[in-house]
Amino acid sequence: MSETGMVLSVLRASFNDGPGIRTTVFLKGCPLRCRWCHNPESQSPRMEIAFLENRCSRCGACVSACPNHCHALNASGHTVDRTACTACGACANACGNGALSIKGKAADVDEIMRDVVKDIPYYQSSGGGITLSGGEPLMQPDLAAEILRRAKAEGIHTTVETCGLASRNVFERIAPLTDLFLFDLKGMNDDLHRQHTGVSNRMIHENAKWLCESGANVMFRLPIIPGLNDRDADLAALGAFICSLPGEHAFEIMPYHAMGTDKAAQIGQAYTCEARVPAPADIERCENQLKAAVR
Ligand code: SF4
Ligand code: SF4
Repeated sequence: MSETGMVLSVLRASFNDGPGIRTTVFLKGCPLRCRWCHNPESQSPRMEIAFLENRCSRCGACVSACPNHCHALNASGHTVDRTACTACGACANACGNGALSIKGKAADVDEIMRDVVKDIPYYQSSGGGITLSGGEPLMQPDLAAEILRRAKAEGIHTTVETCGLASRNVFERIAPLTDLFLFDLKGMNDDLHRQHTGVSNRMIHENAKWLCESGANVMFRLPIIPGLNDRDADLAALGAFICSLPGEHAFEIMPYHAMGTDKAAQIGQAYTCEARVPAPADIERCENQLKAAVR
């Protein structure tokens, strides 16, 4: 049997995760807890139950179906005890309204590759390929390496979207199998980085430097979160860091959006980011400052 891991979803015909038409494989689990995360359901490495309250008709089928008595209907609404949930999926199967679903599933490389190879003609005509994303795909290095190895054997272009936090030996294994890294940089101020992502940026920046020194093709992705990392000094420091790296590296701004708010609520997670969505003028200012710093 081929390598198995935890997959959140597989998205075919994706246009935002690298060049051309791509299949993006989202692996579940991330070592960061960014307050602005737009995919909070990808953070936990485990399967979990999601509940869409506005689809619930309070029929009670899930209450009867759950072997662990996780669901309750009472005057305050429909509550889900996630601490007792084993993600068995019985309630999701019983719900006729699509209000419940399980996020994540175990999948093996054979299964993943069956989806990926379907679109080889599209990759060839568009310059596309496969992208591993997450979560953080390098949290499952054996699975990631095997998918990339199989894709390369099929002649498929490979991209890895990473938060940059993985051990050096994982990057050493993955780099020869990767045509393009989309590498997130969230800020140079370590105190702010710890405050807003839960981890230090030190190892992330060391890995970015190592990849660039190794000759990897790296494009930096810079999430811009108004009020958290968009001050002039923040942008100048980011630009200076990119400039200091060997080789020429493109970057793109990823403006904050609030899509994570509803998704976090569905999995019972607090969403603590209160940033506003940036206006086009804010994005233009950031872009101009970064371009001036990187020049
Ligand atoms: S997934 Fe299983 S354990 Fe979790 S709430 Fe649903 S029925 Fe209960
Ligand atoms: S089965 Fe679905 S619609 Fe019925 S109470 Fe449970 S979540 Fe709501």
